[in-house]
Order: sequence, then structure tokens, then C-alpha cells
Amino acid sequence: MSAITARRIPAVATLLALLALTGCAGGPGHPAYARQVTVAPPTPSAPAPSAAPSATAKPAFKSLAWYVSQVPTFPEAPLPQPVPLPATGSAPFWHRLPTDQKVAFITIDDGGLARPPGVVDFIWAARIPVTMFLNSPAAAEHTDYFRQIEAVGGVVENHTIHHNSLAGRSYEYQKQEICGAADRLEESFGKRPTLFRPPFGEHDSTTLKAAHDCGAKAVFHWTETVHEGKVRYQTPEKVIQPGDVLLMHFRPALMDDLLAALKAIHRAGLTPALLEQYVR
Ligand SMILES: [Zn+2]
Repeated sequence: MSAITARRIPAVATLLALLALTGCAGGPGHPAYARQVTVAPPTPSAPAPSAAPSATAKPAFKSLAWYVSQVPTFPEAPLPQPVPLPATGSAPFWHRLPTDQKVAFITIDDGGLARPPGVVDFIWAARIPVTMFLNSPAAAEHTDYFRQIEAVGGVVENHTIHHNSLAGRSYEYQKQEICGAADRLEESFGKRPTLFRPPFGEHDSTTLKAAHDCGAKAVFHWTETVHEGKVRYQTPEKVIQPGDVLLMHFRPALMDDLLAALKAIHRAGLTPALLEQYVR
């Protein structure tokens, strides 16, 4: 989507300057995130003239500016080449997107447990592409929060209504969980989800049929999990591969998880990209 057509994550110095200029207050009621700042109005948070020059001031540990300052500068992402989708009446199930392009994908699940407010500004300031697999009740209860992430480039996708394991359940049950969530997410966000992630990754062939019938183009597992700032590899390579999908959750340490994911993607010589640009 257009909000993140600029794929390259800008230099940290630029971001810090932007943060200083805007105050980057964000939050509810902040209708739009300025992409260009042409005027530098004085703000209450601006340093006094006698303070140390901001270019050399170190941001406070774990402040928004600190998180942004830790984000590596990535190689420019390649032009997305969408992957071919099978025409079988079932959605494909992927741990990793089948691509050789030098990109990896950040996904954030659930939505009911915690929604750190700094995440919206962090995603905006560092231009982090994220796909959110939400449970529809959490999405309905906290729509404003997820809309803010949408406004800075995130995309809402489907993670069922009740977060129960689907494997072995009837087609009717699975369809109700998947289509029911898709209907409600479409109502809340004005766009029907096109990707699905089954709770716990647990699924069977019925899941893939039901997901397809509910409008999902693909069903995603993951190749790495990120929790409390640690990346855990679930692949033999122990390094992020092209097309890898990193899983994290809306939990209190999400800022740390996003940063850890970005660093791991950078170490692998890859660039974070938006899954929806590759599965169309
Ligand atoms: Zn989940």
C-alpha cells in the first residue's frame, strides 16, 4: 500500500531530526503522521538553547528516540515480485514465503493482551512494515489502536475469532471462525483480510479449504519467533533467510521485539518488507 511505498528505512539521523521537529506525540486524536516537516515550530519538549546540541545528545535508554537510533539502515528493498498462487480451491500453507528476493517479513499476532502505545510512533518513525494477524474481538475492542498502525503502513489480517486450535475441527466450525473473523475485521477496517494465520499454527487440509473460501490467498506459519527482545530460530540455518516470516505478539515488550527482528533481518543482509505486496 502507498503508505510504505518508500521501502528504504531512512537514516537514523533524519529520523531523530524528524522526531525532534514533530515531538512525535502520536496517539489517539493525532489524525495524520506528517511525512514531511517543512517548519520547525518550538515545542515544549525541544531542548533549551543552552542544552547540549541535539546531534550529540544521547537519547534516554528505551525512549522512542533511543529505539529509533538503534534501527539499522537497510539496503533498499527490491521491487516486489508477487509469488504465484495455486488455483486449487485451497489456500497454500507457508512457513516462509517462496521467494529468492532479499526480504523478510514481520508479523504481529493476537491483539488482546497488550498494545504498547509507543509502537505506533516506532513503526511510523522507522517505517517498519508489519502485518497484524488479529483476533476479531480484540480488533473490535481496540480498533483505534490498530487503525493507527494501519495509518502508518501496517495491514490487518485474520487470526480467527476465539483463538482455538482448528486442526481436526469440522469445516463448519473452521469456516465460522475464519469467515466470522474476516467479516468483523472487514466491518472494523473497511477491508477484508487476504491472509490467515491459524492459532498456534495448528491446521489441517480443512483449514486451508475454509481459509480459501473465506477469502484468504495464503495461510502463514512462521520461521522465527521473537519474544522479549530475543529471536528464536525454528530453522536449521539459524539465520534469517529470504522470505522468512518472523512472529511476535502484541505483548508488553513489543518495542524490543520489533527492534530485535529488525537487527536480525539486517544481520542477514535482508530488508523488511510487507507480506501483502508479495501475496496479491
Ligand atoms: Zn495467536
